[in-house]
Amino acid sequence: MHCHSTISDGVLTPAEVAERAHANGVQLWALTDHDEVSGLGQARARAEALGMTFIPGVEISVTWALHTVHIVGLGISEDNPQLNAGLTDIRAGRTIRAREMADRLEQMGIPDAYEGALPYAANPALISRTHFARYLIAQGYCDTMQGVFDKYLGDGLAASVPMHWSTLEQAVSWILAAGGQAVVAHPGRYDYTPVQFDAFFSQFKDLGGTGIEVVTGSHHPDEYVKYARVARQYGFLASSGSDFHSPKEGKLDLGNVPALPSGLTPIWHDWI
Ligand code: AMP
Ligand code: MN
Ligand code: MN
Ligand code: MN
Repeated sequence: MHCHSTISDGVLTPAEVAERAHANGVQLWALTDHDEVSGLGQARARAEALGMTFIPGVEISVTWALHTVHIVGLGISEDNPQLNAGLTDIRAGRTIRAREMADRLEQMGIPDAYEGALPYAANPALISRTHFARYLIAQGYCDTMQGVFDKYLGDGLAASVPMHWSTLEQAVSWILAAGGQAVVAHPGRYDYTPVQFDAFFSQFKDLGGTGIEVVTGSHHPDEYVKYARVARQYGFLASSGSDFHSPKEGKLDLGNVPALPSGLTPIWHDWI
């Protein structure tokens, strides 16, 4: 229920992601590119040709309490005007931010990072920190994606540029307008206090959000247990997904995702 193609910061085309998912035994598959739905047509065509059930998705960038959070929309109708207008606005800030990131990297002794990262972005409108990270690894500045985020690009570090993405209200309302279900992506990645987490989950639920990722490539197994408890506490449906970007990056591959802890209702219960 969560993965990426070349439409955002993945390295395989939507059709190639469909093929890899199918080869790994996936039967129900959602593509969830960042802030962009233009890969869903190709993904659906390939998925259906291979006999998989396809769930159109998106992963929307949100700023909440000065931090970035990601809200996944599942089962969206990708031609919804409200959703598309919102995503177009979010994407508009990325090029300016990428140039600013490159200026900051230059001050840290890494020249020409914008020009270097651009060839990694198959969709230049979606240039992201992941593309910069791939360039910095190729140039030998770091060995791993996590290393780049720990040293240069992570939130609050010298080369990261604070962003105002969408608000939580906007992201959830666009997903609902498009007929989808809103899901909190990888909650274990957010640096909030317990009080902030409670405010965040409560607000998300009040806005009409219905799901939370429990099992994801971004979570340690201890966090499967922790967010299963959160799902039960707030009455959220549980989601899981690899957050696959590339065969060489990330902890989980497509279809190779541990089962949800027991006692949860999967977000896909209506789709199978
Ligand atoms: P952006 O949307 O440009 O801010 O880039 C965020 C993307 O960076 C995420 O979607 C991940 O694919 C990737 N990423 C990899 N490691 C990290 C990390 N430690 N923190 C945040 N993002 C990461
Ligand atoms: Mn990503
Ligand atoms: Mn994410
Ligand atoms: Mn993702």
